[in-house]
Amino acid sequence: MTVTAAAATDVGRVREHNEDDLAVTDRVWVVADGMGGHAAGEVASRIAAETMSELAVPDQVSAQDVIDQIALAHRRIETAMRQHPSRRGMGTTVTGLARVDEEGEGEWRWLVFNVGDSRVYRIVEGQLAQVTRDHSEVRELIDAGVITPEEARRHPLRNVITRSLGGGANPVPDQWLLDPQASERFVICSDGLTGEVPDEELRAILEAHPNAQDAADALVRAAVEAGGRDNVTVVVVDHGSHDGTHDVNDTQPRSRLATR
Ligand code: MG
Repeated sequence: MTVTAAAATDVGRVREHNEDDLAVTDRVWVVADGMGGHAAGEVASRIAAETMSELAVPDQVSAQDVIDQIALAHRRIETAMRQHPSRRGMGTTVTGLARVDEEGEGEWRWLVFNVGDSRVYRIVEGQLAQVTRDHSEVRELIDAGVITPEEARRHPLRNVITRSLGGGANPVPDQWLLDPQASERFVICSDGLTGEVPDEELRAILEAHPNAQDAADALVRAAVEAGGRDNVTVVVVDHGSHDGTHDVNDTQPRSRLATR
């Protein structure tokens, strides 16, 4: 499998801390958007990203292993909350992509998973599709026909999520199993990107930047330039001959642009 992955994150123009976190390994790619006062959001998102990156260690992982790991991250966040009362109420989204092995088949598929309002997009043959569905108040208002997606971008409830790690009951992740394509790109991002950059602009930026790192950097830059009202984090995963230059597996380590 030939995968090139790259990441970028920025605190934005308004927030004092970057409570987003991310993980880039050769098997799992994750964005976690933390919440909670006194820097607790950073703790929650860090626990989620680190716990998910442990999936890179075994020889094989199944879809169930990924789901179990999300539950483990949730329990670890709850434990961290109990140990430090100032962290009460912290939580995080956890959203991403994993390469999972089919039982005994020697085959693999993609598993996209989501808890919260970070997103996974997929681009195949120039067509951009949002794979995940936000667990958010505004998504429910859109579904009920109360507001439009454009209105959701500025809605006062836009930061209210309906599912998260750390928030009480064990959150059930949404999951999608996808067959790998010969050439495809995934984008995993926090709502600091999608709150600032409409899908059409996102698609255009991706098309203009065949290199994964260039694409991640350009998306984060666009969100900050559009206002940067939230932390913004982007992981780009290119599989196959996405930009025609991927003859070797050169998955890159975790990288950070910015200011934390
Ligand atoms: Mg956010």
